[in-house]
Amino acid sequence: MNNNTTPNNGDKDNRGPGNRQSILMFLVLMLAAFLVFGFLQRTFTEATTREISYDEFLTMLEEGEVAKVEDTYNTWRITPKEQPFGENGIELTYYTGKMDDPDLLSLMREQGVEIDPYIPDTTSSMIYQLASILLPILLMVLALNYVMRRMGGGGMMGVGKSKAKVYIEKETGVTFKDVAGEEEAKESLVEVVDFLHNPDKYVEIGAKLPKGALLVGPPGTGKTLLAKAVAGEAHVPFFSLAGSDFVEMFVGVGASRVRDLFEEAKKNAPCIIFIDEIDAIGKSRDSRLGGNDEREQTLNQLLAEMDGFDSNKACIVLAATNRPEILDQALLRPGRFDRRIIVERPDLKGRVEILKVHSKHVKMDETVDLEALGLATSGAVGADLANMINEAAILAVKNGRKAICQKDLFEAMEVVLMGKEKKDRILSTEERKIVSYHEVGHALVSALQKDAEPVQKITIVPRTMGALGYVLQTPEEEKYLLSKKEIEARLVVCLGGRAAEEIVFDTVTTGASNDIEQATRLARAMVTQYGMSEKFGLIGLETRESMYLNNGTVLNCSDQTATDVDSEVMRILRESYDEAKRLLLENRTCLDKIAEFLIEKESITGKEFMEIFRKVKEGQEEYHQEELIFAE
Ligand code: ADP
Ligand code: MG
Ligand code: ZN
Repeated sequence: MNNNTTPNNGDKDNRGPGNRQSILMFLVLMLAAFLVFGFLQRTFTEATTREISYDEFLTMLEEGEVAKVEDTYNTWRITPKEQPFGENGIELTYYTGKMDDPDLLSLMREQGVEIDPYIPDTTSSMIYQLASILLPILLMVLALNYVMRRMGGGGMMGVGKSKAKVYIEKETGVTFKDVAGEEEAKESLVEVVDFLHNPDKYVEIGAKLPKGALLVGPPGTGKTLLAKAVAGEAHVPFFSLAGSDFVEMFVGVGASRVRDLFEEAKKNAPCIIFIDEIDAIGKSRDSRLGGNDEREQTLNQLLAEMDGFDSNKACIVLAATNRPEILDQALLRPGRFDRRIIVERPDLKGRVEILKVHSKHVKMDETVDLEALGLATSGAVGADLANMINEAAILAVKNGRKAICQKDLFEAMEVVLMGKEKKDRILSTEERKIVSYHEVGHALVSALQKDAEPVQKITIVPRTMGALGYVLQTPEEEKYLLSKKEIEARLVVCLGGRAAEEIVFDTVTTGASNDIEQATRLARAMVTQYGMSEKFGLIGLETRESMYLNNGTVLNCSDQTATDVDSEVMRILRESYDEAKRLLLENRTCLDKIAEFLIEKESITGKEFMEIFRKVKEGQEEYHQEELIFAE
């Protein structure tokens, strides 16, 4: 990527010994210049003048050979009537020392010699003296300045300099076209860009220009990408840096960096400043999270600078974070980051669009159906999807294909979400059987319940992320709400694996730990967050720590209530488990048949699964009917 660095940023590679060398070099050169100059002056005067004794001078005077005598303060300079030539053909003058000689003047008058007396030249000599002191100092200062500038941000002098990178116009190479989905975020940002292009339009009507906008969303949803796109669209200088760039070991450095950054920005208005991961400095200043002098000073400086902005000067500060709840309230008030641009996890349409954007440059054959992949990747963010397309391309190459097919895409999805297949891990026959029953338990319970999601694939090929096998389920359509029934169905599906193990082998394994964890979290949320348990009713017992990161929750209730919550969660889980066992016991034949098939095939598709399921079901119904006939 091409980017201009600020002038004071310089090339940092010249730091260290190189610089000391250049100072030394400079000094040596200066000294040499002085010496050479002095030497030249000496040789010049030596070549044009010659010393004579006072006797010789008097003799020359008496014999009338002298044309002119000049008093040079401490010598007589004598110009003879017939000037002799030196070795180089230059006319020579003589000089001799002055002596207390009262007769000299009358002798010179007698001979008619031109007398040039000494006139003390006060002003020019003072200037000369001053210059001879000041000039070297000036030179030294200039030299030091030059060297410092070359060191740029390095050394002690440059610690407080901002590290902002400046992107100008389209140098990021990213435009809004490269950001798929996120229409609302883009709309807000287009507005911001428009503010910068035509500030008059807004000022005329009396609107104040916004000062800052905060991009908020889970990791990987494209916040940084959006900011880059703004830079690509804005045609104004774009200062980009991360929150951590401000943080240094010394207190006060961050603050001075902020000051420097804003100074630079004001010079370049209209412009955009982008601070990525602003939570690094914008953390709330309360002491609960641990105070930090340096960070707080930096934050205070940032607050002050944002207030100090002239609102007619079109400078806009963009920032990105995935932890808006820990940001200091002062940052979020009107006049600072008052605009909040939410960058959500993409919905189905958004995911398909992101897939399209990223598949533009890869070859795909006609089997590819991005809609299907979009539907299967509910919850995935842009970064995951971009990664999937890339993995699919790599898989296609590995399999010797010229283009990506749908199978590659789904395989890539599993690689991204579950890790790579571990082909070399060989399970013993017994373990394969257990894993197989466990997975079919999940799938079968899911198929037996009305509110569960359809099964897409069942596999017992181990993956690098720890799974020995899994059931892939895809929803029929994008869902934004979960009903209580659906959550209950999900709980039963979660525990179906363990239930199958218990029914078939009369013993249980460690394989269900992840299922149990998931089920517990879901059941607990039902009680403490969703108000879905009759016992507690509509009480919020837990608050989420973070909106966009899975940071967990904090319980805010008495210990007594916490104990009650635990027992309620236990009850829900127990009932779900019993339900799973009931369903599987009723369909034992089905369970056996599908598990057998899975052990043989390792992976079966949802279609194959449903086929066996239906066949066995029909068989059972005939059987049931027969029973009924007999009963009659
Ligand atoms: P974050 O929100 O964590 O800053 P990034 O902007 O760094 O996420 O996104 C990481 C990568 O994911 C991007 O470089 C891009 O390839 C891809 N990506 C994320 N969101 C989108 C999107 N909406 N459209 C296209 N690509 C996206
Ligand atoms: Mg980012
Ligand atoms: Zn399981």
